[in-house]
Amino acid sequence: MLDAGFFHRWMTVAAAAVNREADHLTELDSAIGDADHGANMQRGFAAVTEVLDREAPHTPGAVLTLAGRQLISTVGGASGPLYGTLLRRTGKALGDEPEVSPQQLAEALGLGVAAVAQLGGAQAGDKTMLDALLPAAEALATSFDAARKAADAGALATVPMRARKGRASYLGERSIGHQDPGATSSALLIGALAEAGDANGGEA
Ligand code: ADP
Ligand code: MG
Repeated sequence: MLDAGFFHRWMTVAAAAVNREADHLTELDSAIGDADHGANMQRGFAAVTEVLDREAPHTPGAVLTLAGRQLISTVGGASGPLYGTLLRRTGKALGDEPEVSPQQLAEALGLGVAAVAQLGGAQAGDKTMLDALLPAAEALATSFDAARKAADAGALATVPMRARKGRASYLGERSIGHQDPGATSSALLIGALAEAGDANGGEA
């Protein structure tokens, strides 16, 4: 079972991954966006770990809803509200139980990803974070490791896509041949989940 400590650890590991990969995310965003994705994610996740360390919410749902609220209030640009919605909706779906099963998390994450699709109006194949998140949420029903692999493959699959949403869509054909920054950061987020899962005994 996964408790508040597990979800707190997920966010801490995600913040570290975002710090490590910030330059790479910015590089990807400079090719098909405005070169702020690394900084956006760093600022957002630093604020998330700060508020979680300070408030230490007691349930999985409360950890994710607080993290999501914090992302929305600290990250400008498209990705803040989208990632904020992902975590908030997922947290809301987990309710106020002190522990949840990996299966409950998989279902909740599916609802979170659906909320991202609704907010941004994007779908699979539009070259956005959804191309990593949709397959990851589905694979999470199998295992943390399957989710990590699906997210990585989903991010890589954005390279030949033409962007149909967000800033990259302004480039039209010229967005082809570059990996989407948001799909890449989503793969980091899911990788962090798998890493937290490994520390938890790898169960899913
Ligand atoms: P901005 O585009 O405002 O500079 P970021 O650079 O932080 O914001 O984030 C860009 C990422 O946001 C993109 O790579 C893409 O994955 C994601 N994104 C943008 N628009 C949408 C959308 N409508 N739906 C889903 N994801 C989106
Ligand atoms: Mg940007």
